[in-house]
Amino acid sequence: MTIDLRSDTVTKPGPGMMEAIIKAKVGDDVFGEDPSINELERITADMFGMEAALFCPSGTMTNQIAIKCHTQPGDEVIGDESSHVYQYEGGGIAFNSGASVKLIPGDRGRITAEQVLGAINPYDNHKAHTSLVCLENTSNRGGGSCYEFDEIKKIKAICEEKGLALHLDGARLWNALAAKKESPLQYGKVFDSISLCLSKSLGCPVGSLLLGKKELIKKARRIRKVFGGGMRQAGFMAAAGIYALQNNMDRLPEDHAHAKQIADTIAYKKFVKFVLPVETNIIIFELNEVHEQFPERMTAPELVLKLKEHDILCHAISSVRVRMVLHLDINKEMVARTIHVFNQL
Ligand SMILES: *Cc1c(COP(=O)(O)O)cnc(C)c1O
Repeated sequence: MTIDLRSDTVTKPGPGMMEAIIKAKVGDDVFGEDPSINELERITADMFGMEAALFCPSGTMTNQIAIKCHTQPGDEVIGDESSHVYQYEGGGIAFNSGASVKLIPGDRGRITAEQVLGAINPYDNHKAHTSLVCLENTSNRGGGSCYEFDEIKKIKAICEEKGLALHLDGARLWNALAAKKESPLQYGKVFDSISLCLSKSLGCPVGSLLLGKKELIKKARRIRKVFGGGMRQAGFMAAAGIYALQNNMDRLPEDHAHAKQIADTIAYKKFVKFVLPVETNIIIFELNEVHEQFPERMTAPELVLKLKEHDILCHAISSVRVRMVLHLDINKEMVARTIHVFNQL
């Protein structure tokens, strides 16, 4: 039995989801004729109280389309230094939108309204025009940390005052909503665009959504085509998404509880320096520096190899940091086994 904690993207569709996929009604989505995609777009837009939605192959694409919609070449985008849009999208902000970035050192991936205000360029011919703020909730590099909604509202007020657009990378917003007991409608009210992933915590094989006003999504649909993301009978994947929204949402607190249980064990290991606070389904911990006086210590890649011998897979995200992610395909027994293995190390 392999326990794959590398990411929540490793899940495979179960029988219920497969049945939904097989039974899906499909059509050519580039012609707007795929009933399953149209339904998924309507369901998610309604859920967030937003006007429209666009189904895309990946969260990278929904983020990059949003950034393209909100900026002109030469503009500047504000975001946290660890944000996915900057760190893990292949330099796409520059490549796709010709925009530069102003990076803010946030608290576990979360930036404050005060920091945003300080990062906006003044009107000056020397300076790039700041046009967009991107937030990430939950924050991936922040170990699944969640924003306080009050801070988001303060950031929104600044964006309104300064005429900036506000985008949310909500790849794991589902987890934040569950952890904070928040409503999607709250988010729909403050963001100009929201990117959501179905392929992470909800367990779909493929799919992300971009939400926004009708005009924005009209523009986004055109950009999706330019990016090569216009799909045909992709309703099979949208049907998996509809199934996931109906069946895999309520179980997210289970992943969060599992993450806390494993983190509690890890925190007591002598070779561990600290575990980032566990708020959702991600565990990030840092190891003590290797030192000859402490033979139990090891580097992050060494620990990852050692866990692999026990069929537990996870990622070294730096020489001293390890990440584990809980998801749909990790059950109670696997959590117990992971805890057992750590207790033996
Ligand atoms: C995974 C992820 C994305 C999108 O990734 P894709 O693999 O392109 O779907 C975007 N933002 C965050 C924070 C993520 O974790």
